[in-house]
Amino acid sequence: MKDQAYYDSIGFRCGLEIHQRLKTERKLFCSCLNIESSKPLGIKIHRVQRAVAGETGKLDRSTSFESNKNRTFIYNTFQDNVCLVDIDEEPPHELNREALMISLVITASLNPSSPSDIEPMRKEVVDGSDPSAFQRTMLVGYNGSLGIGNRTIRIPTIFLEEESCGIESSDNSTAVYNVDRLGVPLVEIDTDPEIKNPLEAKEVASKIGMILRLTHKVQRGIGSIRQDVNISIREGERVEIKGMQDLDAMDTIIDREVERQLALVEIKKLLVGKRGKVHAPQDLTDIFENTQISVIKSSAGKVYGIRLENFAGVIGMEINPNRRLGSEISDYAKMAGVRGIIHSDEDLNKYGFSELELQGVKGKLAVADKDAFIIVSAKDEEVARKAINLAKHRAEHAMIGIPPETRAADSKNMITRFMRPLPGGSRMYPETDAKPVAVGKELLELAHTDIVDIERSAKELEKLIGNRQLASQMLKSYKFQTFNSIIASVKVEPLTVAAILLEKMKELKRQGILVDGISDATLIYIFGKYAKKDITKIGIEEIIKNVPLNSKDVDRIIVEKKVERLGASELRKLVARYRNLEKKEIVGKVMAEHKLNVDAEELMEVIAKG
Ligand SMILES: [Zn+2]
Repeated sequence: MKDQAYYDSIGFRCGLEIHQRLKTERKLFCSCLNIESSKPLGIKIHRVQRAVAGETGKLDRSTSFESNKNRTFIYNTFQDNVCLVDIDEEPPHELNREALMISLVITASLNPSSPSDIEPMRKEVVDGSDPSAFQRTMLVGYNGSLGIGNRTIRIPTIFLEEESCGIESSDNSTAVYNVDRLGVPLVEIDTDPEIKNPLEAKEVASKIGMILRLTHKVQRGIGSIRQDVNISIREGERVEIKGMQDLDAMDTIIDREVERQLALVEIKKLLVGKRGKVHAPQDLTDIFENTQISVIKSSAGKVYGIRLENFAGVIGMEINPNRRLGSEISDYAKMAGVRGIIHSDEDLNKYGFSELELQGVKGKLAVADKDAFIIVSAKDEEVARKAINLAKHRAEHAMIGIPPETRAADSKNMITRFMRPLPGGSRMYPETDAKPVAVGKELLELAHTDIVDIERSAKELEKLIGNRQLASQMLKSYKFQTFNSIIASVKVEPLTVAAILLEKMKELKRQGILVDGISDATLIYIFGKYAKKDITKIGIEEIIKNVPLNSKDVDRIIVEKKVERLGASELRKLVARYRNLEKKEIVGKVMAEHKLNVDAEELMEVIAKG
């Protein structure tokens, strides 16, 4: 376990960007319904995007990187949640007041200042996830704060913005997006990079998540909340990690990213000390004319290589579990569309290099024993050249240190993976089609009446459930909304609902049963059956264990699994059968035969009455 002194010594800095979709009736700037699914319209829109200079006149770093790729974007449209505004063929409608109000409540809960005018801006989007190549965004709060233990984490900005399209598929020439999700209101909460260790990051994310859920106005489910984490160390650059969905894995993934950054700093020092040098790419195609190396043969086109002077042994250095500097260089080359690179710190025998080919490469690149080399091959000359240049760029950066990048959290392998270079700052310009909205005193006061107060909510919940531990668990759980819906629709003891949602369902999930797939409506139906005394408490568990998809499924399971509750008269008949036995024994006998169908308390009553 690393302590705070360790994180201080490496100059650990971490900030969060939390994106949460709001539960509104409609989208942010049009009248489309904010619903998850709708019928496909069958209309596909094709776009090709080109980078434009932002407000500062400079081409954004990631913008030019993406547009290098010359990709075509295809957008799938849908019946109920796509309109001309979404595909940028009609000006935006008025700002959705419901979304504005929710964003102001969230903002008010984070002790900020609020701007007097909400001004829509356009933020450039270059990965194709918006057909208009921009996303509308508005500052709704600034200078906020969040208390964590005895520390205060500053929240410099809170934005209300449009969600982007969901990606359907992507390859090197085309990316396909679904427009249904586009324009759904989203709140972005940013913290200052003053989080001191990975566990604190988790704590901040969890508390912000709790505040968001306590508004009861946010969407839930996979993808509805996204945590991006910015991480840097003293000798490095900012690295942004996207898609940290799983809070449980957050601290481990951050620690691995820190390890990666520290390893890259070590490599930099090593290479600077050795006077490493990356030479110009050379065409090696001739050498591999009759090759038996399958990875080169299958691409059967151009082969390029570079000499990495004094790099011998360094490309193979491990920087994360099963990841080397070579993997990082390979990630860059892959952006051009190649499958990867071959480098000299690998076991080249596994590729089947002939002695002649190896000597040819070493000769042409002038590789000495202290050097390393990289080879890239592709059918298309342009692709091969791009790939080798990207690999060269990354290899050169090994002597500068940590490249500023956007990376993706890989919670399966508990590491981060390269996505693209980090965007610079020239991405915003004013939205001239949407008018600013004045935020009056009344609106702010209204927002304050719904402010989230975690302590108060905790007390109320404890009183409602009657169990402190379950209440505190519920407050942190994404099941909270489900709990509220059940309590609101069915007359049932909150403690029973809480115990089943938090304990029983967790236990079943651990057994690999996909209980999270049961909808709120179905759960309400099940608890309704319980409230009507059609089933027992254990009956609820038995039904849930069988993962019903809807109310009909519930009815079917009740019959098939024999879950019907036995009424008082049936109980009396059962008890009469064991008249000669002790009370305890009667209970044992009846429960053994009818575990699912008998409420133990009711049984005791029947026995007591004789
Ligand atoms: Zn629309």
